[in-house]
Amino acid sequence: MSISDILKQKAAAGQKVLTEYESKELLKEIGIPITEQKLTKTKDETLSAAEELGYPVVMKLMAEDVVHKSDMGAVKLNIKSKEAAEQAFDELMEIPSEAEKQISVQKMAEEPITELIIGMTTDPQFGPALMFGIGGILVELLEDVSFRIAPITEYDAKEMIHEIKGFPLLDGFRGKPKADIDAIVETLMKISDFVIKNEEIYEMDLNPVFIYKEGLICVDARIILKSETK
Ligand code: ADP
Ligand code: MG
Repeated sequence: MSISDILKQKAAAGQKVLTEYESKELLKEIGIPITEQKLTKTKDETLSAAEELGYPVVMKLMAEDVVHKSDMGAVKLNIKSKEAAEQAFDELMEIPSEAEKQISVQKMAEEPITELIIGMTTDPQFGPALMFGIGGILVELLEDVSFRIAPITEYDAKEMIHEIKGFPLLDGFRGKPKADIDAIVETLMKISDFVIKNEEIYEMDLNPVFIYKEGLICVDARIILKSETK
């Protein structure tokens, strides 16, 4: 089944919010690097997944009603052993949720130069718009983000990156390496193309994306579909 078919099917079935796992699998399909991830249910499955991926791993609770995972204690970082994985599993299962619970076991990504936010929202007048910003307090506190109506050109993408106030953080700030701007441009273009081709998408959030000297990796994502029954 193509991505468009999957999205159409989910939208028709009334599923509005894709889990992090589903959202990242779609991103992988369109060529955006993600943290390698496995979806599990039982403790045994979870431990084998951790073993296969190789410690350290991250474990997160995937449930439809757990949206802001950290706030609910649903993100367990830097799990280094089988014992720690067992304990993390037990704690994740204790989180109150009405929905079906699954676990996303994923590779622990290396520390980035900085975290980025890349997103898409639907403007009532202009349709899909892309968003770019530096993650963490710069976005939360200072709302340091740039927007462009999709589809964007490579030139637009470059402008979006350069016009935020936090740009120096990507440009070798305080002796840190320069971030791979081309990788960000490429990612923005891929998302632009993706949302133009898939009208079912209402909102997308890649938060955070870890940016490096070479390449980037999406660590968390959420896709929201337009509901059929507004
Ligand atoms: P939330 O739903 O609260 O946004 P996230 O999945 O974004 O949860 O996880 C919270 C934070 O944990 C991220 O902003 C990131 O800093 C860190 N994190 C999450 N997943 C990973 C990972 N696979 N590797 C390294 N760090 C991670
Ligand atoms: Mg997040």
